[in-house]
Amino acid sequence: MIVTYPFSAVVGLGDLKLALVLNAVSPRVGGVLVRGEKGTAKSTIVRALAAQLPAVTVVPGCRFACDPGAPDGGCPDGPHEPGVQGLGRPAALVELPVGASEDRLVGSLDVERALTEGVKAFEPGLLAAAHRGVLYVDEVNLLHDHLVDLLLDAAAMGICYVERESVSVRHAARFLLVGTMNPEEGELRPQLLDRFGLTVEVKASRDPGERAEVVRRRLAFDAGPEAFAARWTAEESALATRIAQARARVPGVRLPDARLRQIATVCAAFEVDGLRADLVTANAAIAHAAWSGRDVVTTDDVRAAARLSLPHRRRRDPFDAPGLDEALLDELLASTSGDDDPDDPGGGDGSPDAAPPGWDGDMPGEGQPFDPSASGTGAAAPQEGTGAAGPQEGGGQESGGADEGAGPRSAAGGGSAGEGPGRVAAAGTPYRVPLIQVPGLGEGAAGRRSRARTARGRATGARRPAGRVRDLHLAATLRAAAPYQAVRGRTGTGLVLRGDDLREVVREGREGNLVLFVVDASGSMAARKRMTAVKTAVLSLLLDAYQRRDKIGLVTFRGATAEVALPPTSSVEAGAARLRSLPTGGRTPLAAGLVRAAEVLRLERLRDPARRPLLVLVTDGRVTAGGDVDRAAALLEGTASVVVDCESGPVRLGLAVRLAARLRARLVSLDALSDLGSVVRDHRKAV
Ligand SMILES: [Zn+2]
Repeated sequence: MIVTYPFSAVVGLGDLKLALVLNAVSPRVGGVLVRGEKGTAKSTIVRALAAQLPAVTVVPGCRFACDPGAPDGGCPDGPHEPGVQGLGRPAALVELPVGASEDRLVGSLDVERALTEGVKAFEPGLLAAAHRGVLYVDEVNLLHDHLVDLLLDAAAMGICYVERESVSVRHAARFLLVGTMNPEEGELRPQLLDRFGLTVEVKASRDPGERAEVVRRRLAFDAGPEAFAARWTAEESALATRIAQARARVPGVRLPDARLRQIATVCAAFEVDGLRADLVTANAAIAHAAWSGRDVVTTDDVRAAARLSLPHRRRRDPFDAPGLDEALLDELLASTSGDDDPDDPGGGDGSPDAAPPGWDGDMPGEGQPFDPSASGTGAAAPQEGTGAAGPQEGGGQESGGADEGAGPRSAAGGGSAGEGPGRVAAAGTPYRVPLIQVPGLGEGAAGRRSRARTARGRATGARRPAGRVRDLHLAATLRAAAPYQAVRGRTGTGLVLRGDDLREVVREGREGNLVLFVVDASGSMAARKRMTAVKTAVLSLLLDAYQRRDKIGLVTFRGATAEVALPPTSSVEAGAARLRSLPTGGRTPLAAGLVRAAEVLRLERLRDPARRPLLVLVTDGRVTAGGDVDRAAALLEGTASVVVDCESGPVRLGLAVRLAARLRARLVSLDALSDLGSVVRDHRKAV
């Protein structure tokens, strides 16, 4: 048997523990999204929580975990005999791998058997396994769009519904959804973000004492899991008891009108969309009151709930930093808390108000990492200006040049591309840019840029399926079977179908691409004060790439060399931060920029071969330093490219025009990009 790390033994991470516990206390809270860097024990603590959830009683033999007391009426394994003897088992922890297929998630209906044998054969998926337990999605932001939609539907309805060619199955699927993500690797779609009740930002502690304690316990656990867990038995069972007591208390907790108005005021002030935030905050506040042993919700409960339920719901654009303004929250709460209920005793009726010793980290000399009012591990951790020593900073994987790899890239310290510190121009407000596509038909990940063969989208034809049929083309299947009916000895009215008659639909949709920006940051660009316009243009293109679900990368060149300012990533925030802090000045080593771009593309082709690249070269075309541009351009042959011509002024050299011809690239002038953008913008305004 596998011993899980005890929840009580987790050091620090007060917000995360609180968020998980509130969900354990009340399923209505609606799950947790954990945002944070790698290596912060996210999955350890989720597993630890699952072990703390009350056991469930199930109908023996039912693959859908029906409760004998209230079986699912439509259970595919049903109908179940009433009064059947239940079987106790721990609440399930089911992990949804990012690369899972649709069948794995929702289960699979065998269309082939349905058509050829006339039976309904359903194999349950992970949603069935997670029913009444925890569904854990590590790196949920990397989950395919299509899976996200299925997950959203199931989470919203509490039902998993599978339909293939009019054969359908449904079963109950209610689960605590816990997702983790590293925001550096790309943001979540707002719809999915909203689906999580709470979010928590986690970071490894910067306190040496706490870090040492984390490692000490981990070493002890790894050396002897059973012995370690045994030392925490008392805390663990006290915690389980407290969760069970709080669960029982929830239905009786009162939410006074004054507190409800307080919640509404806070949600309105933080400009969240819709009313879901109010609902989640209210449920979380009720859970928090129950957890604290109270029967009436207080301002403290509202505060604890709002800190976890609002950060991800603020209306924001992708360049905003995450988090919540806690000073504003306190101000709002203070201005609306005057009429706290007189009948609020603040302490319930004798159940343990204080946490059992040890459960909240038990750091020597430090008592309350669990205090919801402590802002230490707070959600507000704006990470603007990534140039400063961010966690993933320092030794970027691909900034290989021997002369530049030494120092960390720093916004303030200027360029690592040599030749002086350079100046940092500001960027303006991004505008909408016209759609730039990779020509031809791709097969990359779903997105909104170039045409591609995809799992969804418009049907354009039929083909023999490579594996199991998932998207049957009925007309083509019938056409394939029709000529053989006599040979197969058809007698009745039904068609005689064989497996190899089956045809599936070929669809065309759109894919996301790798948009690699190659930005000239040399003096000729800066001298004419063009850099602000250039940065605004690139920022606009970045925003566009975000909306089209592209991967982006950024290569810059100035002074003596080119550098990879941002290796390919899905994080537009990282791109925007790098761009904002990009210094300009120095000579123009265009060839170096092209060579570096070719390297990035070559590596990325190995990593993600289906994703087609689009090179966006932003330059005035002047070359004042090293390297043969023709030879460098040859390395990029066959790559779809766009040159954004930044040349301006009365006298024009037309160098970018020539460069575009050499790269067989489409040419767009900087002005045209923004003019087109403003045309689009005005048009949208008018509509
Ligand atoms: Zn059942």
